[in-house]
Parts: sequence; C-alpha cells; structure tokens
Amino acid sequence: MTRVLIIAGTDSSGGAGLTRDTATATALGCTVAPVVTAVTVQTHKQLHDITPIPPEVISAQIRAAAESERISAVKLGMIGSAQAAQEIADALGRFCPDTPVVFDPVLRSSSGGVLMKDEALMPLLEMTTLLTPNLAEAAHLSGRAESSRPVDLARQGERLQRLGAQAVLIKGGHGSGGTSVDHLFADGHMTRFERPRLPQGHRGTGCTLATALACALGAGASLVEACQQAGDHVHKWIKSAVAA
Ligand code: PLP
Repeated sequence: MTRVLIIAGTDSSGGAGLTRDTATATALGCTVAPVVTAVTVQTHKQLHDITPIPPEVISAQIRAAAESERISAVKLGMIGSAQAAQEIADALGRFCPDTPVVFDPVLRSSSGGVLMKDEALMPLLEMTTLLTPNLAEAAHLSGRAESSRPVDLARQGERLQRLGAQAVLIKGGHGSGGTSVDHLFADGHMTRFERPRLPQGHRGTGCTLATALACALGAGASLVEACQQAGDHVHKWIKSAVAA
C-alpha cells in the first residue's frame, strides 16, 4: 500500500490544505500520515488567521509517522516559518531518507493572504524531488518576470533547479488561452503536458495535484508518468466539480 506523508496546514473552509490532500490520496487508494504545520482560519473568500505549530511538534509528528509504518512519498504544502522548514528538512533527512518529496510552494491562498514566506522554502528545496510552482510562484521564486513562454519557463526552471530542486513542474492552469500547459523540467529535458483549459477559481487544485504526484511517485511511477497521471486526475476532478 502506498503511504504518503503529508506535511501541510489545515484549512477551515475545507477547500484546500490537509483535508483536500487526504481526500485526494484516499480517492487514489493511498493511505495518509498527516503532519500539521499550521492551523488556518479561513473561508473561501478570506484568510483570517494563522497559528503555526511549534517546529519541534512538527518534527515529532514526522518521527512518529515514520516509526509507525514505511513512508512511500512525502508531500509538502504550507510551511509556517523558516525554523519549521529547517526542522522538517532535518527530520526528513533522519527519518525518511531516499523518499521522493513533492513540494507545492503555496505562497498565497486564493482566499487572500500570505501563507508562506520565501525563507520558509529554501531549506527544503535541496531535498525536493519535484517542485510544483504555478506561473506566479515560478516567476517570484526564480526572481524573473512572469511569463508563459517556454523559453522563459526554461530559465525559471533552471534557476529553481540551481536552488536545489531536482525537477520542476511549472503549472499553466492560471494562464490564458484555450489550452493549459504544464512544463516539466527534469534531467536536462523539458516535457509539455497539454490539456483543454477549464474554468478557473476552483480551490485546492495545487494541493490536489501535488498529492496525486506524491501518490504516483510513491507507487513507483517515473516523473513523466507521475505528471501525466496526476495532471489527468486534477483535470477530471475539476471537470466533475464544474459539472456538479
Ligand atoms: N490554505 C492552506 C492551508 C493550504 O495548504 C493551501 C494550499 O496548499 C491553500 C490555502 C491554498 O489553496 P488555494 O490555492 O485553493 O487557495
């Protein structure tokens, strides 16, 4: 059984965060070890408050999860602070070495408000197997202008790989045009995943994708296979939610 360690924040609206991650992993037939990094108070429209969990409590959760059963893959979402990031990096290195890590760098919530500062990302990039920024996050983290041109995305991907991520999937879902294209930069290659664009504004899409990627990598898929499978899953999920 694929078991995913999910290190993320809670979202009281139920739209994103740990609840969404758990629902995704369960739908994909995986089990979850949940590690809470922060408790957020938010509606679909507004982020009211964030209470970070003390870093030593986060690492204790990681240790206990790893001692309970084997971890197949790790999904990182909202990380409260640079200290928490350092503590998580140390704990993953000690208790889950050689486990694929998918990192969704959620800087802002679509309900409004900052979820994570840049410094909370840096210590974790070096252990990231696959970083999954959207167009705005990729531009911000690489220090370049936002763009959806493949040549610019390749430069952003390269910069993010130099910061430590082994591979980068830049998600095109928030762009414009009739198709949505995700670009994977891995092993010196760029791979495009193109799908018809769906209506935007659906919450929790980034959480869903990153968790589905962790489930696929944990089950032994290659990076390209995981991006195909997880992207298809998110596409189907948004389509059914829009139709409902
Ligand atoms: N709130 C929490 C706690 C999250 O972990 C995330 C995403 O990971 C978000 C909000 C952002 O989700 P959305 O992009 O749907 O607003």
